[in-house]
Amino acid sequence: MTSEADATSDPNASGSRVDDALRAGLEGFELTDADVELVHGAPDALGPDDAGAAALPVVAVVGRPNVGKSTWVNRVLGRREAVVEDVPGVTRDRVSYTAEWSGREFTLVDTGGWEVDASGIHLRVAEQAEVAVQLADAVLFIVDGKVGATDTDEAVVRLLRRSGKPVVLLANKVDDARGEADAAALWSLGLGQPWPVSALHGRGSGDVLDALLDVLPEVSHVAGAPEGGPRRVALVGRPNVGKSSLLNRLAGADRVVVDEVAGTTRDPVDELVELGGQSWLFVDTAGIRRRVHQSRGADFYSSLRTRAALDKAEVAVVLIDVSEPVAEQDIRVIQQVIDAGRALVVAYNKWDTLDEERHYYLEREIERELVQVTWAPRVNISAATGRHVGRLDAALRTALGSWDTRIPTGRLNAFLGEVVAAQPHPVRSGKQPRILFATQADTRPPRFVLFASGFIEAGYRRFLERRLREEYGFVGTPLEISVRVREKRRR
Ligand code: GDP
Ligand code: GDP
Repeated sequence: MTSEADATSDPNASGSRVDDALRAGLEGFELTDADVELVHGAPDALGPDDAGAAALPVVAVVGRPNVGKSTWVNRVLGRREAVVEDVPGVTRDRVSYTAEWSGREFTLVDTGGWEVDASGIHLRVAEQAEVAVQLADAVLFIVDGKVGATDTDEAVVRLLRRSGKPVVLLANKVDDARGEADAAALWSLGLGQPWPVSALHGRGSGDVLDALLDVLPEVSHVAGAPEGGPRRVALVGRPNVGKSSLLNRLAGADRVVVDEVAGTTRDPVDELVELGGQSWLFVDTAGIRRRVHQSRGADFYSSLRTRAALDKAEVAVVLIDVSEPVAEQDIRVIQQVIDAGRALVVAYNKWDTLDEERHYYLEREIERELVQVTWAPRVNISAATGRHVGRLDAALRTALGSWDTRIPTGRLNAFLGEVVAAQPHPVRSGKQPRILFATQADTRPPRFVLFASGFIEAGYRRFLERRLREEYGFVGTPLEISVRVREKRRR
């Protein structure tokens, strides 16, 4: 394997000639204006880099169980599949979705999957709503228009007032004009106009979306983070893997809450931590310190927090608890990091608890479950004893270095030329797609665009990714490879 340093030094002298020849060859193909821009090296032709770009505003949908939150979210997303069930509190995997209305995009956080205990129910609803509201720019509060306001609703209203966030009140299950009088009674909540809606049939849902967009900022105040300053790290992982223990270990007694430091950020939930003589900003740490003690609610909360933290971070440390079998939830967190396009370090925590037998099974589980991220740096740590936590900063630096890497177009094409010559794409129905030209359109994470004369199979794309990693390292960063199939120009 070639070392990563190669990516930035030793420019391949013959590269640019190859490059020009390939560019010239492309002239025989139908290219769009955007293609031409990309081919001629506009570095950000794929659009702004997500990590630095302004994040979409976030709307939290809150309300008691069974008022119709998920039904409404499904309606807005235009989803066909019936994810709504008549069982209250069915847990769902995903909690946030990108929605669009009147040409504006925003993130919709669906709290519909929460398990709420029958005992102390209104306390729980309020507690869970509080978490969602903290992470949102605006709140859509749904009340059952047929039932009217309950004590639980009143408790949520008090919390919403305290939050100071804009609130739009939706009176749901107003399936016909007769229900509108009941809905009007909800003026008494003091949240302004109740919007009568039938999430089930779609009645009134356009008006409430218009009202929502009126109060929603263009750019999120809660998601995203500015460029520059110390590099931003998210500690993520399912509940109880040891995130808060690790944060305490790393921050130690010198823990600095960031808003106390002049010129850092106004966000009091980020903390500066010194590691290896460098400052790192650990983002959204309040979400770690303030733990929610519930079984299924905790998973939900954890997934919500992971998303929010990843939005702000450049690199994620995913903690995995080695004292327990590697679980689907662990894989899901890793997938969230990859989907968010962030650099990744995997920390196997509670190493102090391992005996020989468990160690044996752990390695088998890692081989089986985590094959898709063999590229991520691995550290075996114990937050409890401090074992190897000092190795985290080297792993973070490596991952971020890869995340930032740009391969010059000449070298990339020279390299791919060799790879393809040695192992061409298989012939299908008498045709062999050719790779015409490749360019790295973006970094953070590295994004490659290949122009090809025909469809490139998934297996061959994976092969190309593997070879790119063997050649350039890319330790700790996801890679995106997209293919643009272009037809030969007809005469
Ligand atoms: P959540 O727990 O708040 O997410 O509620 P759900 O979306 O799961 O809805 C609970 C129940 O109310 C389901 O049986 C829905 O079909 C029903 N429901 C939701 N919206 C409406 C509506 O506008 N009108 C009527 N009649 N029923 C609705
Ligand atoms: P979080 O929910 O991910 O923030 O997890 P916590 O940091 O609260 O840790 C959950 C439990 O695991 C606590 O009881 C910790 O004391 C314990 N724990 C955390 N790290 C370690 C470790 O390295 N070794 C051992 N033996 N226990 C740990």
